Amino acid sequence: MRVSVFGATGSIGESTFDLLQRRDDIETVALTGGRNVARLAEQARALRAELAVTAHDDCYDALKEALAGSGVEVAAGTEALIAAAERPTDWVMSAIVGAAGLAPGFRALAQGATLALANKESLVTAGPLLMAEAARHSARILPVDSEHSAVFQALVGEDISQVERVIITASGGPFREWSKAALAKATLAEAMQHPNWAMGQRITIDSASLFNKALELIETREYFDLEPAQIEAVVHPQSIIHALVGFRDGAMMAHLGAPDMRHAIGYALNWPERRDLPVARLDLAQIGALSFEAPDPERFPALRLSREVMELRGHAGAAFNAAKEIALDAFIGGQIRFLGMAELVERTIDSLLSDSCLTDPVLALETVAAMDQMARQRARAIAAHMD
Ligand code: NDP
Repeated sequence: MRVSVFGATGSIGESTFDLLQRRDDIETVALTGGRNVARLAEQARALRAELAVTAHDDCYDALKEALAGSGVEVAAGTEALIAAAERPTDWVMSAIVGAAGLAPGFRALAQGATLALANKESLVTAGPLLMAEAARHSARILPVDSEHSAVFQALVGEDISQVERVIITASGGPFREWSKAALAKATLAEAMQHPNWAMGQRITIDSASLFNKALELIETREYFDLEPAQIEAVVHPQSIIHALVGFRDGAMMAHLGAPDMRHAIGYALNWPERRDLPVARLDLAQIGALSFEAPDPERFPALRLSREVMELRGHAGAAFNAAKEIALDAFIGGQIRFLGMAELVERTIDSLLSDSCLTDPVLALETVAAMDQMARQRARAIAAHMD
């Protein structure tokens, strides 16, 4: 099997690299990264990749130097990323963070590759387009987000039309028990203390605000084509159950596993088979108890906002994601407070409601990109007047 990894130097990329390194029946075509060229070069040498691409033109020389004498081709820039996605490949990991991950995924599908999708922004901003592209080329998208992989696995052998509800779990993050007054003063360092998962910076903060769960509700809708009312989120602090599927006869199938992304990545890599994976096995007696609680919409408004976005559809997902990215940047940069992120996203969506583009159901990559830009500009303007 020939594989490529987009976003190889990130958290998902490293977990994918770990699994690939253990296999001798896989050829690595392309590995891509951003600024961490030293690590990208190490990975490319270790996996004997055909090609290594950095997304940044100004990183080309450093990558070229790091791979001198290795026989690995080197390229840089957005066009080079697209060209890498067009190289004949059987399986492509989409693990670039943010909207930059969209275009390579589309190109991979267009050449019929199986797309292992970690980049949640692809489904949130352009879900119907992405699913249609896969269908057009008879290509398959396999979910890598742990919750969606869990739903996918619970549905094996089942008929989606018999599904009554899907419940995805949220750990609740580091602020699960914090009061609203305490949340108002939450710092970046505090938001980075995820209790169960080790992940990249942006998704870790999104987990603390429940924006990550908000994106995942939208992903669930787009990937499984369910109505918003069929999709729920529940707080489950132990992160052992990743999702549950409820059927029309009242039965529920739950997916359990240690919080380790190599499970969902490995499942997508080995699908439709299962193979040994280097993940911890659960000791249920030691875990003792699993608990569940309803998310508090007052302290964590992100879930309510995602429901509004699911109802609006059209380009609302693109606006939501863009506003959320600007809000996250503003929080990381110290420009707004923790609770200001939800306020900024809500005000941005509200300000776009009068624009018919927001709910226009006809999506194209260009219109999604235009909405992304419009929402970013709007969010930046609003953020400039927030404290
Ligand atoms: P990281 O921030 O750890 O890694 C992001 C990767 O994308 C890095 O390889 C980075 O390169 C690269 N990158 C950053 N900016 C650009 C750009 N503009 N163009 C091209 N490449 C770029 O992210 P994660 O691995 O945590 O997440 C990746 C995606 O997977 C996200 O969409 C996230 O929501 C999703 N996801 C992550 C999970 C997790 O456990 N981490 C779980 C489920 C989904 P470099 O570092 O070299 O600059």
